[in-house]
Amino acid sequence: MTAASGPIRPLYAQASGSPIRAMLALAGQEGMISLAGGHPDPALLPADWLRECLLEVASGVQGRSLQYGATEGLPALRAASAELLRQRGLQAQMEEVLITTGSQQAIDLLARVLMEPGAGIAVEPFNYPAALQAFRFAGAQLVQVPADAQGMNVDRLEAVLTAARPKVLYIVPNFANPTGAVMPLARRLRLLELAVRHGVTLVEDDPYGELWFGEPPPPSLAQLNQQAGSPAQVAYTTSYSKVVAPALRLGMLLAPPDIARAIVLAKQAADVHSGSLEQLTLTAMLASGRLAAHLGMLRQAYALKASALAGALHSHCDGLIEFSEPRGGMFVWAQLGSELPLMSTQAWTDFGLKHRVLAVPGAAFSLHNRAQARLRLSFANPSVEDLREGALRLGRGLRSLQA
Ligand code: PMP
Repeated sequence: MTAASGPIRPLYAQASGSPIRAMLALAGQEGMISLAGGHPDPALLPADWLRECLLEVASGVQGRSLQYGATEGLPALRAASAELLRQRGLQAQMEEVLITTGSQQAIDLLARVLMEPGAGIAVEPFNYPAALQAFRFAGAQLVQVPADAQGMNVDRLEAVLTAARPKVLYIVPNFANPTGAVMPLARRLRLLELAVRHGVTLVEDDPYGELWFGEPPPPSLAQLNQQAGSPAQVAYTTSYSKVVAPALRLGMLLAPPDIARAIVLAKQAADVHSGSLEQLTLTAMLASGRLAAHLGMLRQAYALKASALAGALHSHCDGLIEFSEPRGGMFVWAQLGSELPLMSTQAWTDFGLKHRVLAVPGAAFSLHNRAQARLRLSFANPSVEDLREGALRLGRGLRSLQA
């Protein structure tokens, strides 16, 4: 422990804050267009639907509603969540579903429960930073598995599993953050086979799976594993953040019984249970039967925004970046042309301030925080107009960087 860090463990004292958060602090500046945040569009968040359900819950509040609740979650919400998972093709009984404070908490608790300090966790080269942070704080060693446009490269996975012997593998198979990649069925099946052979527990994180545009992604690893008689250990988490509202801070976990038992103990130590008033409100929202229609609306609206951004990038950034059309989720993962310089996160922030458009540099998602010829652009939050203007500014800015 260094004197400067006082009583704070070096793991925390030396951790860097999220560069995305630093960027988001600039997003509110007058005239700034932010393609940086992965936040839903506030115009698409269900304020009226939530208000109605909140009032219904408020009018029924009694002393009893304000009591401590079960760590596993409100029974009615567990039942509704199990039903939702069944609609998505999973076998799930209410007793098997745990309610968590966002899927972020599921990831954090899984990290605490599954990772011995120093043990390896296999991950792709570019990942959701807050998951990596949870694994690091649990003392895990990040083990990199190569990936391509179709997600984790399972052909190269076996060599990594043999050499580094990670105990756990973290994966976002649907519309990953930041790459937007969707793992094809054949890779999913091969991944499960390798997980069984090497005794690796899979942490499947699926917050974006329902936000598909043309056609739904292949079945989840958890579903494929169940269909095969559950030979692999798969802990599956998904979230209400992207399909209802992030402010509720509610997600769910479906995990093998021994893992679920340990998670309940870890959650008791973390926050006892997720907020009951939020759980009651979400339960009322799900009971109203409006989620399917809401989801249909979201898919259409985000598909429109994705194609607006993609079209504008083709028009204004031609020859400067390459990217695949998003098939769902919230992100475009742009590869910068080789004639553009590799820039630090600070340089990208300065670029954003100068050209009035923010994007997250690839370093923010890389395991070693090194500069990358990548940018993550999100089409979720800005209006269609701002997406077009943002692409125009990005093109101008990138052109000015060309030597
Ligand atoms: N996993 C991934 C890949 C994410 O991108 C996010 C948030 N953007 C989360 C998990 C956490 O979401 P939440 O806690 O809101 O459910």
